[in-house]
Amino acid sequence: MIITKKICSFCNKKIENYKKLVIGYKAFICYSCIFLCNKIINNDINNIEEKKFNNETFPKPKEIKSMLDEYIIGQKQTKKIISVSIYNHYNKIFKINNSEIEISKSNILLLGETGSGKTLFAKTIAKFLNVPFAMVDATSLTEAGYVGEDVENIIYRLLQNSNFDVKKTQIGIVYIDEIDKIAKKNEGSYGRDVSGEGVQQALLKIIEGTIANVPPKGGKKFPNQEYISVDTKDILFIFGGAFNGIQTFSGTNIGFKKKSNFSNATPNDLIKYGLIPEFVGRISIISTLKSLKINNLKKIIYKPKNSILEQYKAIYMLDNIKLVFKKSAIKYVAKKAFKLKLGARGLKYILDKYFIKLTYFISDKKIEKVKINKKTLINKNMINIKYKK
Ligand code: ADP
Repeated sequence: MIITKKICSFCNKKIENYKKLVIGYKAFICYSCIFLCNKIINNDINNIEEKKFNNETFPKPKEIKSMLDEYIIGQKQTKKIISVSIYNHYNKIFKINNSEIEISKSNILLLGETGSGKTLFAKTIAKFLNVPFAMVDATSLTEAGYVGEDVENIIYRLLQNSNFDVKKTQIGIVYIDEIDKIAKKNEGSYGRDVSGEGVQQALLKIIEGTIANVPPKGGKKFPNQEYISVDTKDILFIFGGAFNGIQTFSGTNIGFKKKSNFSNATPNDLIKYGLIPEFVGRISIISTLKSLKINNLKKIIYKPKNSILEQYKAIYMLDNIKLVFKKSAIKYVAKKAFKLKLGARGLKYILDKYFIKLTYFISDKKIEKVKINKKTLINKNMINIKYKK
């Protein structure tokens, strides 16, 4: 093709340096537009504007909630609870550090079905506050001396994610998933309970606040080894778990209202479920996420910043293909995902599967626009495409 003008087809800017323009079929894209697209595609929350806060500028609970609204659909109650607890936690760090007053940690427990947004909450907050974040599955942890991951390794991951900046690590956020899976076995279990109670015991110190001595390369501790010392007193721990069947413990007198499932989980319920009282005592906030209904799932497809749909649109736009996803398609995918009982994870599963087929099918065709509605989703052979002239 003979290039007559060096103008980006996306932003319309004139490009002085011809090498910085990627040439497509009847279109050009400049490096800064490619960079922008990359930002959109690059995972759901990578795009949150990174900010550095101090005691003057730390956002108020309502501001934190507004930010959460941009990325998380529904879960109003948990958003409010989290916003206030995050505010209290970091306000305490910024304002009364080095003072005489001791304010206890405000570790958080999120209860909720799989795919309801527990991890999303923890990740979004960490990204928003620009603090290091580490995530670990409780089932992979063991008490010291057993095969598996020592609890100090959690802090090692946080160190890794802050480029070994100890000061930053000490105000990071750790998300421990599947905490319900380390509930102690009730009756009938003999010998030492390696996976349950022992791990809870091992976590106690670290979640309350201790000087954790972390091997500089992670892994197991050895005698005479040098350690990196990290004070965990200001590290915020968020725990997540589905706590299946927890209602049955509460049943009649205490606990959950039938309609809202776990909405009134109390520390007592958690103890009955198998968390040891010392562990529960170190959790000050318990919040329950609602299971996502079809209406929430519909919104999750297109509404959050960098939604799944927005990401696919950006991918197709790189090939100059306009993707139109009609309301009927959104409704159909949401209904199908609801039946899968995987929360919002079901949406990604369904859409990824569909888009793999679609992308492969159109890859050898010259296309301007693809329109997807319920019919195109059901009838895999039927596709509504506008070809390039
Ligand atoms: P959980 O930790 O509760 O199992 P996740 O937070 O990992 O679930 O959710 C899985 C994915 O589903 C997330 O990456 C996110 O894109 C999406 N998701 C889940 N819940 C919501 C929600 N309430 N709003 C927007 N997206 C959500």
